[in-house]
Amino acid sequence: MAGNRTFTMIKPDAVESGNIGNIIQMITDAGFELKAMKYTRLTEDQAKEFYAVHKERPFYQELVDYMISGPIVAAVLEKENAVADFRTLIGATDPAEAEEGTVRKKYAESKAKNAVHGSDSDENAKIESDFHFGADEIVD
Ligand code: ADP
Ligand code: MG
Repeated sequence: MAGNRTFTMIKPDAVESGNIGNIIQMITDAGFELKAMKYTRLTEDQAKEFYAVHKERPFYQELVDYMISGPIVAAVLEKENAVADFRTLIGATDPAEAEEGTVRKKYAESKAKNAVHGSDSDENAKIESDFHFGADEIVD
């Protein structure tokens, strides 16, 4: 059965361009409930660990450098079918391929600087939420 939580980050490009509020509005309008949220800046070690699955990819260091280039917003979101529905809301990795009306279509700069992160499975949603938030930081 599909789980009901996912994890997101508003990435440095979207924070820099002043779109935190617009993106959170899109998220809550789509029926997601905030369970935890924090404004923070990743260390290089944190970014490397978070994206460790991509460490063999040619863009890994570029991705790490980008993710530590400025503050981010990290959040845990709740909704029925959260992981899949959130991936639909944010759109394709490359904004040029993202559907109209998606977060990335509206706010992403490029395939690298693509405004938001969304977990790709229930298992990773749990791992990524636990990476950023302790159990006492999740509001029930
Ligand atoms: P998604 O975030 O849609 O799940 P991936 O997991 O494939 O996408 O990639 C993780 C992140 O790495 C992307 O969101 C993007 O910021 C960056 N990225 C992906 N592909 C490239 C690329 N070809 N060049 C630079 N950065 C990339
Ligand atoms: Mg991914």
